[in-house]
Amino acid sequence: MSLPFAAQSSPLEILRTVFGYDRFRGAQAEIVDHLIAGGDALVLMPTGGGKSLCYQLPTLCRPGVGVVVSPLIALMQDQVSALRQLGIKAAALNSTLSYGEQVDVERQMRGGDIDIVYVAPERLMTDAFLTQLERCDIALFAIDEAHCVSQWGHDFRPEYLQLATLHQRFPNVPRIALTATADGPTRREIVEKLHLEQGRQFVAGFDRPNIRYRVAAKGSSARSQLLHFIKNDHAGDAGIIYRLSRAKVDETAAWLREQGLDALPYHAGLDKTVRAANQDRFLKEEGVIIVATIAFGMGIDKPNVRFVAHLDLPKSLEAYYQETGRAGRDGLPADAWMVYGMQDVARLRQMVEGSEAGEAQKRLEHRKLDALLGFCETTRCRRQVLLEYFSDACEPCGNCDTCLEPVESFDGSVAAQKALSCVYRTGQRFGAGHLIDVLMGAETERITALGHDKLSTWGIGREFGKEEWRSIFRQLVAAGLLRVDIAGHGGLALTEACRAVLRGEQPIRLRRDAVKKKSAGRGARGVRALAADADEALFQALRTLRLELAREQGVPPYVIFHDSTLLDMARDRPGSLEELSQFSGVGRAKLEKYGESFLEVISLFEG
Ligand code: ADP
Ligand code: ZN
Repeated sequence: MSLPFAAQSSPLEILRTVFGYDRFRGAQAEIVDHLIAGGDALVLMPTGGGKSLCYQLPTLCRPGVGVVVSPLIALMQDQVSALRQLGIKAAALNSTLSYGEQVDVERQMRGGDIDIVYVAPERLMTDAFLTQLERCDIALFAIDEAHCVSQWGHDFRPEYLQLATLHQRFPNVPRIALTATADGPTRREIVEKLHLEQGRQFVAGFDRPNIRYRVAAKGSSARSQLLHFIKNDHAGDAGIIYRLSRAKVDETAAWLREQGLDALPYHAGLDKTVRAANQDRFLKEEGVIIVATIAFGMGIDKPNVRFVAHLDLPKSLEAYYQETGRAGRDGLPADAWMVYGMQDVARLRQMVEGSEAGEAQKRLEHRKLDALLGFCETTRCRRQVLLEYFSDACEPCGNCDTCLEPVESFDGSVAAQKALSCVYRTGQRFGAGHLIDVLMGAETERITALGHDKLSTWGIGREFGKEEWRSIFRQLVAAGLLRVDIAGHGGLALTEACRAVLRGEQPIRLRRDAVKKKSAGRGARGVRALAADADEALFQALRTLRLELAREQGVPPYVIFHDSTLLDMARDRPGSLEELSQFSGVGRAKLEKYGESFLEVISLFEG
């Protein structure tokens, strides 16, 4: 009978001895108690909030095997490796197992020899497997990535709908559904589709305080801005760079490699083995940068991703939040860095217009884009804007670019009128480049040929430079006063909304930022900078040891110890197993397995 850890231990004792953590985070304790008592739950927590523990720990406290449904095989393997490091008996049942191995796992489940099993939904819901389950003791069902049940979301998995029948077939087994991405409607859909009406909902705040948000305008070379950012703030750190298209991914990755960075591409067009190898290197080595389309990320739970960079705008704030959320799961400082320009806005508008979606859907997507642009152009605390979008709130955070370097704004009414008139006078079909030439009174061939030097708006904008005008046009587009020609020639046209501004009835404030600043402000501190507080040489030595141990076992280094645990060791230099056992992330099993090796390295740095 499997009551491996729990016979007499309280959840808190298990948290300390098995997981090596001092205390529960946020609602974890409540959720764990609720599940142990047999209740159902829906848990909404941001990425890195500590969802896994919410089902792993109760599983250890209840008799029988915990069955975890997860859509991602890659993620399963990681979780299983991590649990085994803690001395927990875990297994994954998926298509990568041979028939023999499968039968073996099922036998162990019946015998009560497995604590936690991860299963893909399509396998779980086969009759054969459900029949097997009826012959086992089941501690609980955990449904990870529960938003996959939503037909309206982008991660919809039809197999998830069938999970509803678990409740009928195993009415006495508690169920917990977990997700990081669910707005109100999605949450209601999860409850309904999974029959969680009787369960409790635990909704944690959306804030990720350790992530520093930074957004800047694209200068003449976005990739140089990126390179500067990485070299300055994140040398040697692992990070993810998002691009919109496969071609851009390949191009950016190749260029970064030429610059001497360890960057690898990842997108659906790559050969499967190449893709898997690149992901593997990202997970198992230190300091690898992945350049990817959005195909990359779901199911990546590498905790020490130190930055997420966007070189193209994401589709919405939801997407932005989800993608940037992959940074800093370990709670250490991390950067969400983005540069964008007017072309990005045009491209996204065009994608919405050109899609097969109906009118209502298109309107919705345009609105989402507006919200994203509002976030980009804001002069307020970015975290506030982001959280308000998710119906959450916070004080000005002190950890975003606008808080750290307040943005100067100015009364842009006259500038806006000049720009808008110029668009009107030239016939609403030219791009920003030509319009700026007209405003600044240039005498290009094109201007003379078109007779634009005869217009009343020619030369009325000499008070600003080119870059400043670029920024103004971009802000007018972002504010919905100008529309980028959807047909794709980049021409700007007036919108209904600009009337009031043109008539001088509506003042408009513009930010002055993009003008002088090329970068996006100061970065969060990379791991090297953090290590400087401790002892950098010792930290590197501990990392090397960790990498060796990981390689021996073919697991990612972070399942052995997190960077945060190594930083603590480098700073406080424990001298005995007893002392080491007090460190966060050092449980019984890891202490036994690795304690001596790490103490050995630390002792070399004595005095
Ligand atoms: P999520 O699935 O919500 O994104 P995880 O379950 O992967 O997050 O947890 C994020 C990180 O936080 C993990 O590395 C985990 O070990 C750590 N963690 C979870 N709970 C605690 C806790 N109570 N104390 C310290 N660290 C924790
Ligand atoms: Zn802020």
